[in-house]
Amino acid sequence: MNAEFLEEYSLFRKFHCDVPMTVNLFPKVPIHMQCLTCQSEQTFNMINEYHEFFHYVNVPSGDTKHRLLYRCESCKKFERLFYIYIDRNLKYLYKIGQYPEWEIKIDKQIEKALGKHAANFKKGLVCESQAYGIGAFSYYRRITEEIIDELLESISNIIPPEDKEKYNEALEKTKRTRVTQEKIDIIKDLLPSILRPNGINPLGVLHSELSEGIHSSSDEECLEHAEHIKNILVFLLDQIIQIKHSASAFSESMKKLLEKKSANSK
Ligand SMILES: [Zn+2]
Repeated sequence: MNAEFLEEYSLFRKFHCDVPMTVNLFPKVPIHMQCLTCQSEQTFNMINEYHEFFHYVNVPSGDTKHRLLYRCESCKKFERLFYIYIDRNLKYLYKIGQYPEWEIKIDKQIEKALGKHAANFKKGLVCESQAYGIGAFSYYRRITEEIIDELLESISNIIPPEDKEKYNEALEKTKRTRVTQEKIDIIKDLLPSILRPNGINPLGVLHSELSEGIHSSSDEECLEHAEHIKNILVFLLDQIIQIKHSASAFSESMKKLLEKKSANSK
């Protein structure tokens, strides 16, 4: 049991962990989610007990279902409810219900950046919400294939001047192949450091995720790959949007500064 499981996991997606033998050993982890009363992200704490429907606390946890009631720490009014099922072999647990329901949420900026691909992105999210990993993977892969040229092109705008020639040469090369993995392979080592959080190369990860193939993978395995691809796409789009935004804000303020200077010198 951890916060990420409650905050992010869709229904029926298995959360693998060492499940405690009895429910009194389950932690009550605080979570951070949107409060619809406060209209902002708040801390929620669990206010009921795992053993609430039993007459004793050390209820064996295998093959049981539980209700987790969470309340907003700020307004003390808004509640979130989760129902979970614990595997009989104590290998995993998953949600069997949730209110308010797991949201198909897409950031407005990302939606705009995705343009006509936003519809497929939402379908990917719907598949994820139902734990249909094969479906989700397919949608995100399709989007990657369709936006890869544009994506690599827009990265070229943020390449430092000294590396630009090398990048643009590679970019030309990517146009000679129609295979997405090959395009990524040509570019991935030229990715600027600003797009490598903690030294992780998102294009490198994307490359291996796409090459993996899903022919023999289960829904559950695909769900994980799908999530990686989705996060990389969102990260790259988000960074490109931010860099463009700050660059235009920068040139705007520089322009104003120069105008001011020239007005003063007159
Ligand atoms: Zn609240």
